Amino acid sequence: MEDCIFCKIIKGDIPSTKYYEDDLMIVIADIAPKAKKHYLAIPKKHYKSFTDMTDSDAIELGKCIKKVGEIAPSLGLENGFRFVINQGDDGMQTVPHLHMHLLGGQKLDEPNYCK
Ligand code: 5GP
Ligand code: ZN
Repeated sequence: MEDCIFCKIIKGDIPSTKYYEDDLMIVIADIAPKAKKHYLAIPKKHYKSFTDMTDSDAIELGKCIKKVGEIAPSLGLENGFRFVINQGDDGMQTVPHLHMHLLGGQKLDEPNYCK
């Protein structure tokens, strides 16, 4: 998608602080962190949301989630983290390229740490 911010970040056309990359996803720092540690795990394939996924997207997303679990300690999330996917307008999704928020580095005791 030519005008997608996350596709541009994945291509390297927009700079980001990248913590992890493989053939399926990148993990970057969120530009406006909502917790002490706030990462975005972004599958490289562009699709907006769960409702736009193919079966193969679902398999790849499962692999990405498993990888998130494996690399969490190296991201300083060894004590746990909150995992959030905002979906669609009511979910307040602002970037239409499916991504996972990883929030941690502190006790997430306020409900609005979800976003
Ligand atoms: P959403 O609201 O779609 O679930 O989350 C989009 C997230 O992307 C927000 O937390 C926002 O701060 C982050 N974001 C938006 N633009 C950029 C950017 O250019 N770089 C980075 N690193 N994060 C961004
Ligand atoms: Zn995209």
